[in-house]
Amino acid sequence: MKIYDFLIIGAGSAGCNMAYFLHKENKSVAFIDREAIAGGASGAAGAFLSPLPGKTNPYNSLVNDALEYCLDFYQNLLPSAVDKKGVLRVANGNFDKDKLSQNSMTCEHYDTKKLHEISKEFMDIEGYFYENAAVIEPVQICHELTKGCDFYKKDIKELCFEDGIYTLEDIKAKNIILAQGVSNSLVKIPYMQISPIFGLRIDVKTTTKVPFNIHKSISVSTNKQDGTLSIGATQERHDSAKMECLTTCDKCAFYEDSDEMQTQTLLKQAKELIKLEDLEVVKTYKGARATIKSYFPVIGKVVDYENSLKKHPCIKNGTKIPPEMLEYYPNMYVINALGSRGFVYGPYLAKILTQNILHGEPIPKEISTQKLFYKMARKS
Ligand SMILES: Cc1cc2nc3c(=O)[nH]c(=O)nc-3n(C[C@H](O)[C@H](O)[C@H](O)COP(=O)(O)OP(=O)(O)OC[C@H]3O[C@@H](n4cnc5c(N)ncnc54)[C@H](O)[C@@H]3O)c2cc1C
Repeated sequence: MKIYDFLIIGAGSAGCNMAYFLHKENKSVAFIDREAIAGGASGAAGAFLSPLPGKTNPYNSLVNDALEYCLDFYQNLLPSAVDKKGVLRVANGNFDKDKLSQNSMTCEHYDTKKLHEISKEFMDIEGYFYENAAVIEPVQICHELTKGCDFYKKDIKELCFEDGIYTLEDIKAKNIILAQGVSNSLVKIPYMQISPIFGLRIDVKTTTKVPFNIHKSISVSTNKQDGTLSIGATQERHDSAKMECLTTCDKCAFYEDSDEMQTQTLLKQAKELIKLEDLEVVKTYKGARATIKSYFPVIGKVVDYENSLKKHPCIKNGTKIPPEMLEYYPNMYVINALGSRGFVYGPYLAKILTQNILHGEPIPKEISTQKLFYKMARKS
């Protein structure tokens, strides 16, 4: 029986990007999903690739570095699935005018007059135009990323590791990558507390031509090849203490009644930006974003929390034990908590993690599993 070098659990942006980079390094790769390729949050994504303005800090630097990287990456991977026409950011509560204008990303102020020259349909708004922004077709991208890798549709309930090999029914692999999004992790990772943020996005038909993406608290995309636009997305927190977060929100009773309300909210917010003539909602997508408290994504070897603390109880008192002395689940890695920017982060993080696994390149501290481990261990 074939033994794969890597088996990836989860076929979203995280898992598919990992498959791409590992396969590119001539590793044999299988990937598994209980739904389908991009059957979770990744299939619901807008998927907008936009900068994060504001004075430079570690978080927006990570986002904007990842953005620069992913724009080139997707354009080389599948140009037909990428529409790079830029984004107009309109000030709102989180992003006032000062924040929008002060940042490392080049932008241009568009006043109402200029916007009306571009399209009569713009409402009386103004904003900052960023050239480096795009919208992509997430499902097509995920399929393209995984060419050359073997896909299995399975719901994995547990992992079995024996004699240096993971065996999942009839699939064997030397290494496991957990890319599970909001689903319950297959091993205990208590320091990575995933909190789902539910969201709804719609595709609409309209006769209005939207020249570029527009973003205020929601985004309206430029017209796609078939003329439709994406509008998204809402944000609602699940009470995950009360129920397990399912991969496909379509099957989740919790939100059954609120679709129509959320669709109306999206349409109302879109119409405050641009007049959309002959509007018809053609499709609704739902998903849950995986986030942690800090909003940073997480990648790296999976630290075994309990056994690390058993071996080094002094960590709790603040004694510094280097990462290489911690206990890890064997040959197991995680990539998760991509939040609302899974397609911005995907290629960038997967490249860093692949370089780390195969060539020992370091992982930036703020996105490492170890950082979260130490934080929780010291608190305990
Ligand atoms: C409405 C909405 C709009 C969004 N808009 C954008 C956007 O504009 N731009 C952007 O960059 N991002 C956007 N996002 C965020 C983005 O979609 C996510 O960050 C990204 O999809 C996360 O990818 P992932 O691979 O971590 O998770 P997922 O795509 O959820 O993939 C995880 C997969 O793992 C599978 N899985 C888990 N456990 C198991 C198991 N035990 N056995 C088998 N399979 C398993 C699940 O079925 C799932 O398919 C949006 C998200 C939502 C919900």
